[in-house]
Amino acid sequence: MRRSIAVLPGDGIGPEVVTESIKVLEAVGNRFGHDFVLSNGRIGGNAIDEYGTPLPQETVETCNQSDAILFGAVGGPQWDDPANDVRPEDGILAIRKSLGLFANLRPVKVYPALINSSPLKPEYLAGVDMLVLRELTGGLYFGKPKKRWTTSRGRRGVDTLKYTELEIERILRVGFELAMGRRKKLASVDKQNVLESSRLWREIALEVSEEYPEVEVEHILVDNAAMQLIRNPSSFDVIVSENTFGDILTDEASVLAGSMGMLPSASLSSLPGKNVLSKRVSLYEPIHGTAPDIAGQGVANPIGSILSTAMMLRLSFGMEEEANSVEAAVDSVLIEGYRTADISSDGGELVSTSAMGNVIANQI
Ligand code: NAD
Repeated sequence: MRRSIAVLPGDGIGPEVVTESIKVLEAVGNRFGHDFVLSNGRIGGNAIDEYGTPLPQETVETCNQSDAILFGAVGGPQWDDPANDVRPEDGILAIRKSLGLFANLRPVKVYPALINSSPLKPEYLAGVDMLVLRELTGGLYFGKPKKRWTTSRGRRGVDTLKYTELEIERILRVGFELAMGRRKKLASVDKQNVLESSRLWREIALEVSEEYPEVEVEHILVDNAAMQLIRNPSSFDVIVSENTFGDILTDEASVLAGSMGMLPSASLSSLPGKNVLSKRVSLYEPIHGTAPDIAGQGVANPIGSILSTAMMLRLSFGMEEEANSVEAAVDSVLIEGYRTADISSDGGELVSTSAMGNVIANQI
């Protein structure tokens, strides 16, 4: 099978981890007889440096002509001056919005081989297997007004948390459908005791839940959800949340998995297998950022990016066996004891980003 992939490595450790995903894709292509045609595009800080914009038109066209997008991460201190009118992050936000990628799937799994890499006690981690569904094109990230200005009483800034019924309903529906294929439990996260948009969210969650009587639903305030994620993580199956809440909760959940570098994600414009809303391209990226503190050292963990590639094979290309082979390769190198620095607290063989990519690709 021939499939075209837009590769957008971005900044910091983005290119380092994406390079390893490409090694793994090549190994999958060789083993299963597929031809993955890769087209590189600039995005983020390096695109600002080169073109003055975080999302050049060329990159948009590359994405539109591809079957899927493999993204690294964007941003870094060199582009962080608040006086700048363009920011690296605007590039990825614009892609998500323009492709309608409203559903961000973030599976969180604890690998038994890494159970001692987390600072949490192993008894809290056994059996953790959840899917956080983050709403990705609305909420606090996108609501207008969003601006800064100066008044006679000093500087002011405003962001807006705004949702339409349609935006809330479609993400919850994806959540319920995904829960039906899993353990049939759904936690709808909101802050309805304080936020009006959350009161609407809960009202719609109650309405949609009536169509899924088999799914056990819990409505949970985001602050309580943050606590339960650490206190009783194995109780969660599918978690559905607003954009910013989901961002924060999954960084927290990465501690369960041992590191930020472990978690993959898929951003979709419709439910997998039900392309009813659109046939637009989907995007795959690790949940982490550009990690400026370790960028350029060859120590970043590429597993989150590699597992995102497995999600691409399964969800965009329908290559179940191929996706399983990537996930099995990750499993087996972890069991064999290979560790990048971030997951090395339990010992094992310390390897670089590139060596981790090699051992995984060699297992395919
Ligand atoms: P981060 O995710 O980049 O890093 C947080 C911590 O996790 C750091 O200590 C880092 O070293 C570690 N870490 C992250 N990924 C790792 C990996 N693969 N292997 C080992 N350790 C890893 O978050 P941050 O430091 O808050 O943000 C840095 C920059 O990344 C900022 O400019 C931010 O805007 C950007 N960012 C971009 C995205 C994106 O492009 N999707 C997401 C989050 C943050």
